[in-house]
Amino acid sequence: MKNRRLILIRRAVQASFFIFCLYSGWQFYRFYLWAIGQSSLYVPRPPAIEGFLPISALVALKKFILTGQYDMVHPAGLTIFIAALVIALVLRKGFCGWICPVGFCSNMLAVLGRRLKLTWIPPLWLDLPLTALKYLLLAFFSYLILWKMNLAAIESFIRTPYNMVVDVKMLYFFLRPSQLTIIIIAVLIVLSIFTRNVWCRYLCPYGALQGLLSLFSPTRIQRDAEACVNCHKCEKFCPGAIKITSRNTINSPECIGCLECLAVCPVPDCLSLTVVTRRRVPALTMPVLVLIIFSGLWLGALATGNWHSKVPMKTLKQYYKIGLTITHPR
Ligand code: SF4
Ligand code: SF4
Ligand code: SF4
Repeated sequence: MKNRRLILIRRAVQASFFIFCLYSGWQFYRFYLWAIGQSSLYVPRPPAIEGFLPISALVALKKFILTGQYDMVHPAGLTIFIAALVIALVLRKGFCGWICPVGFCSNMLAVLGRRLKLTWIPPLWLDLPLTALKYLLLAFFSYLILWKMNLAAIESFIRTPYNMVVDVKMLYFFLRPSQLTIIIIAVLIVLSIFTRNVWCRYLCPYGALQGLLSLFSPTRIQRDAEACVNCHKCEKFCPGAIKITSRNTINSPECIGCLECLAVCPVPDCLSLTVVTRRRVPALTMPVLVLIIFSGLWLGALATGNWHSKVPMKTLKQYYKIGLTITHPR
């Protein structure tokens, strides 16, 4: 393998975010136990868990665009959402390729499938409509939130008890999954072993939104057709299942900027990372800039007081105690 180091760096970055998410989830659980009076040990609420609330973040983003007011219920969720979108505009779906813990799990299942030689590539007639599913889901959420909700409805939703306990509902989604949830997750896991990144490629509307924005990104993977020996290794490893050898410039909304294709290509400089006007840049530019943008926005939110939720602790405790009985506002 030409550049195993690149793959190891990516795995290390992804694994770090994954472990951090597990740790945040555990801390949140301890905070929750304290808040509902089942533990006397106070643990600060980790804001990072709001990264798992993209719908709330989309509502908050619309409010931010319309009013300039930052969401004070789940500000960290909005910051992470904005970071993913900014990264997509500059560095393709770099958030998916380097940060998202779900993407990491999905990638690991694909690696397992490849090692067990179980990978199955769906034919185009099946792959195309399946790929469209995530855009349909994105269109559905965009219609409900961006189109149907006016400012009054947005402000009212943000203040609802439901929005304040949506993090607890997410916690219970993992702690006490329903039978249906377990079946769906099990099916997705099994499918992800046989077919690359089933959730990300076919179902995730968050990824679909980043994919659409990434079409405007100046960053591309470039193939030197004359140097290419058509070994198809790049396609075998590409998490986006992109037909790399059928084009010279990869500007697909499925490209997550993971650089696996560069790492496995046996021909030096046949594949390269380029920015505007096809200027080659070192491959490591991708992860370095992804991390700079992500941590820059995080630090900016911290410094401006837009990272920690402003919901008073008394209110939070009150709603958390009845969290599971609070339903979605109609
Ligand atoms: S497609 Fe969705 S789940 Fe997959 S890596 Fe991207 S944001 Fe995460
Ligand atoms: S084209 Fe290369 S960088 Fe893009 S998703 Fe495929 S392997 Fe990753
Ligand atoms: S891995 Fe490199 S040489 Fe092989 S098909 Fe892909 S671009 Fe061509």
